[in-house]
Amino acid sequence: METAWYTPEPTDATEEYWNATAEERLVVPYCRDCEDYFFYPRHRCPECMSESIEHRESSGEATLESYTTVYRPPVEQLQAEAPYINALVRLEEGVQLMTNIVADSEDDLSVGMDLALTWRPTDGDYNLPYWEANE
Ligand SMILES: [Zn+2]
Repeated sequence: METAWYTPEPTDATEEYWNATAEERLVVPYCRDCEDYFFYPRHRCPECMSESIEHRESSGEATLESYTTVYRPPVEQLQAEAPYINALVRLEEGVQLMTNIVADSEDDLSVGMDLALTWRPTDGDYNLPYWEANE
């Protein structure tokens, strides 16, 4: 679990998100017209197509919705990580995202449990948001 990940390559739409991760801050896109969050970052709100978007800082508090242990990663770079726990989590802002969970095994996890944000470095300036049991 100590392999440095490849460096993300931000686009115009994801630059603000990735720059925040460099400071270990999680920001979530928010539509000013819908007055609601969405994820992943993009130029337009997926609900109303508005471009009136801002990024708001998240505490990272989340609940675990689904998880599985990955033994055969889909890409070669992840082979050194395996086995790892891939998961769907829901932030308290309401958005769902796919991530990895820091845990020794699935035995330590259960659907609905509270999770806290933690960070993994990449081989560049950015960090990847991971989640772990909130104890
Ligand atoms: Zn909207």
